[in-house]
Amino acid sequence: MLDNLRAARLSELAVKHLKWLGTRVPPRVHSASIRLHCNGWHTARRYQQQKPCVFCKSEEDSIEHILHCSTIQHMLPPEFKVGVPGRVPMKSFFLFELDGRQRILMSLFVFGIYTLHNQIRHSNETRELRHSLYRIISDVPLHKSIRQAWIDLDLAYNEYWSSRTRKMPPPA
Ligand SMILES: [Zn+2]
Repeated sequence: MLDNLRAARLSELAVKHLKWLGTRVPPRVHSASIRLHCNGWHTARRYQQQKPCVFCKSEEDSIEHILHCSTIQHMLPPEFKVGVPGRVPMKSFFLFELDGRQRILMSLFVFGIYTLHNQIRHSNETRELRHSLYRIISDVPLHKSIRQAWIDLDLAYNEYWSSRTRKMPPPA
């Protein structure tokens, strides 16, 4: 449990990061991060329902699970992962302990996951999740410098992805 002082400091820092982000990304990207901080995603749990996660179909459809969801984690780039096997820690989704470039890129993933979650909720479409996630993010209009950071990350991940899929046969 967080003591009151630490909780106050963390929320102050979270608000500072969200304000910082507000001048650097389009409103829809900013808003997905604000919604995440306020538990405002349209998960079944938020509506007091119990449904399986729209991504992995096994665990619960809730913010708490989505950030740990193995299907989501699998789609995120190695740069943000720690430990073995690499996982993106919860604090990164909340934009803590990242530099400015990483904070913006992470907010793009938060936006992409939020949008994908909404799309699947409405259409039940789960084919080619990774492709959909990256397409959603690629459609966001970005400042030139961040656009380049995104392209670099996307290219690096495509290389990483294709080297992995060359080594491993696709699941049957
Ligand atoms: Zn899941």
